[in-house]
Amino acid sequence: MRSKFMAVLSTTVLPVDGTYKVESVQECPDLAGVPHYIGHPDTKAIVESLGAVQAESRLFPGLNPGEKAVCFPIQQGKSNRRENGFTRPHQNVRLEDLQVRIITRIDGMSYCPFCGTDTLDGWHCPGCGAS
Ligand SMILES: [Zn+2]
Repeated sequence: MRSKFMAVLSTTVLPVDGTYKVESVQECPDLAGVPHYIGHPDTKAIVESLGAVQAESRLFPGLNPGEKAVCFPIQQGKSNRRENGFTRPHQNVRLEDLQVRIITRIDGMSYCPFCGTDTLDGWHCPGCGAS
Protein backbone atom coordinates (compact mmCIF):
# COMPACT_ATOMS: atom_id res chain seq x y z
CA MET A 1 0.00 0.00 0.00
CA ARG A 2 1.41 3.35 -0.96
CA SER A 3 1.34 6.26 1.39
CA LYS A 4 -1.95 8.05 1.29
CA PHE A 5 -2.22 11.79 0.89
CA MET A 6 -4.29 13.75 3.36
CA ALA A 7 -5.21 16.58 1.06
CA VAL A 8 -4.90 18.10 -2.38
CA LEU A 9 -4.21 21.83 -2.29
CA SER A 10 -3.78 24.60 -4.83
CA THR A 11 -0.87 26.24 -3.04
CA THR A 12 1.72 25.29 -0.49
CA VAL A 13 -0.48 25.95 2.53
CA LEU A 14 1.03 25.15 5.91
CA PRO A 15 -1.42 26.19 8.61
CA VAL A 16 0.30 24.23 11.37
CA ASP A 17 3.81 24.87 12.67
CA GLY A 18 6.20 22.05 12.03
CA THR A 19 9.05 20.91 9.85
CA TYR A 20 8.08 20.19 6.28
CA LYS A 21 9.72 18.78 3.24
CA VAL A 22 8.47 20.20 -0.05
CA GLU A 23 9.47 18.52 -3.26
CA SER A 24 8.45 19.02 -6.85
CA VAL A 25 7.68 15.84 -8.71
CA GLN A 26 7.32 15.10 -12.40
CA GLU A 27 4.59 12.53 -12.13
CA CYS A 28 1.24 13.19 -10.67
CA PRO A 29 0.57 10.84 -7.77
CA ASP A 30 -2.59 8.81 -7.40
CA LEU A 31 -5.26 11.14 -6.05
CA ALA A 32 -8.16 8.70 -5.95
CA GLY A 33 -10.39 9.56 -3.03
CA VAL A 34 -8.10 12.24 -1.60
CA PRO A 35 -10.02 15.29 -0.34
CA HIS A 36 -9.15 18.55 -2.09
CA TYR A 37 -9.42 22.13 -0.84
CA ILE A 38 -9.18 23.85 -4.19
CA GLY A 39 -11.39 26.74 -5.25
CA HIS A 40 -9.78 27.64 -8.57
CA PRO A 41 -12.15 26.14 -11.17
CA ASP A 42 -9.52 24.89 -13.62
CA THR A 43 -7.31 23.39 -10.97
CA LYS A 44 -10.35 21.88 -9.31
CA ALA A 45 -11.43 20.28 -12.59
CA ILE A 46 -7.97 18.81 -13.07
CA VAL A 47 -7.65 17.30 -9.61
CA GLU A 48 -11.20 15.95 -9.77
CA SER A 49 -10.41 14.33 -13.10
CA LEU A 50 -7.54 12.64 -11.31
CA GLY A 51 -9.85 11.25 -8.65
CA ALA A 52 -9.67 13.82 -5.85
CA VAL A 53 -12.94 14.62 -4.12
CA GLN A 54 -14.17 17.90 -2.66
CA ALA A 55 -13.39 18.12 1.03
CA GLU A 56 -16.29 18.57 3.41
CA SER A 57 -14.66 21.65 4.89
CA ARG A 58 -13.25 24.53 2.91
CA LEU A 59 -10.52 24.99 5.44
CA PHE A 60 -7.48 22.75 5.26
CA PRO A 61 -6.77 21.63 8.85
CA GLY A 62 -3.06 21.02 8.30
CA LEU A 63 -0.86 17.96 8.50
CA ASN A 64 0.09 15.78 11.42
CA PRO A 65 3.65 14.43 11.60
CA GLY A 66 4.29 12.04 8.75
CA GLU A 67 1.28 13.11 6.73
CA LYS A 68 1.55 14.30 3.16
CA ALA A 69 -0.37 16.64 0.94
CA VAL A 70 -0.13 17.28 -2.77
CA CYS A 71 -0.33 20.81 -4.09
CA PHE A 72 -0.80 22.09 -7.60
CA PRO A 73 0.37 25.69 -7.77
CA ILE A 74 -0.01 27.29 -11.19
CA GLN A 75 3.40 27.80 -12.70
CA GLN A 76 4.57 31.36 -12.86
CA GLY A 77 5.48 32.35 -16.37
CA LYS A 78 5.55 29.91 -19.17
CA SER A 79 6.83 26.43 -18.99
CA ASN A 80 8.73 25.20 -22.01
CA ARG A 81 9.20 21.85 -20.39
CA ARG A 82 6.96 19.12 -21.66
CA GLU A 83 6.07 16.89 -18.79
CA ASN A 84 5.59 13.30 -19.64
CA GLY A 85 2.93 11.34 -17.89
CA PHE A 86 0.59 14.25 -17.40
CA THR A 87 -1.17 14.33 -20.70
CA ARG A 88 -4.71 13.12 -20.80
CA PRO A 89 -5.93 13.14 -24.41
CA HIS A 90 -9.48 14.34 -23.71
CA GLN A 91 -8.70 16.88 -21.07
CA ASN A 92 -9.42 20.48 -21.92
CA VAL A 93 -7.67 21.88 -18.86
CA ARG A 94 -3.92 22.18 -18.88
CA LEU A 95 -2.22 20.03 -16.36
CA GLU A 96 1.14 21.13 -17.73
CA ASP A 97 0.46 24.62 -16.39
CA LEU A 98 0.53 23.26 -12.90
CA GLN A 99 3.44 22.29 -10.75
CA VAL A 100 3.08 19.17 -8.67
CA ARG A 101 4.61 19.50 -5.25
CA ILE A 102 4.41 17.10 -2.38
CA ILE A 103 4.50 18.39 1.18
CA THR A 104 5.47 15.97 3.93
CA ARG A 105 5.49 16.95 7.56
CA ILE A 106 8.70 15.41 8.83
CA ASP A 107 8.92 16.40 12.48
CA GLY A 108 7.94 13.62 14.87
CA MET A 109 8.15 11.13 12.05
CA SER A 110 9.65 7.70 12.16
CA TYR A 111 12.03 6.45 9.54
CA CYS A 112 12.89 2.85 8.79
CA PRO A 113 16.41 2.17 10.13
CA PHE A 114 17.14 -0.11 7.17
CA CYS A 115 16.12 1.91 4.14
CA GLY A 116 15.13 5.34 5.47
CA THR A 117 11.56 5.15 4.26
CA ASP A 118 8.91 6.92 6.28
CA THR A 119 7.14 4.14 8.14
CA LEU A 120 4.04 6.31 8.69
CA ASP A 121 3.84 5.44 12.37
CA GLY A 122 3.45 1.78 11.54
CA TRP A 123 5.63 -1.17 12.39
CA HIS A 124 5.82 -2.39 8.84
CA CYS A 125 8.14 -0.52 6.50
CA PRO A 126 6.44 0.22 3.18
CA GLY A 127 9.86 0.59 1.57
CA CYS A 128 11.75 -2.62 2.34
CA GLY A 129 9.19 -4.68 4.23
CA ALA A 130 11.05 -4.72 7.56
CA SER A 131 8.93 -4.87 10.67
ZN1 LIG B 1 12.65 -0.05 5.19
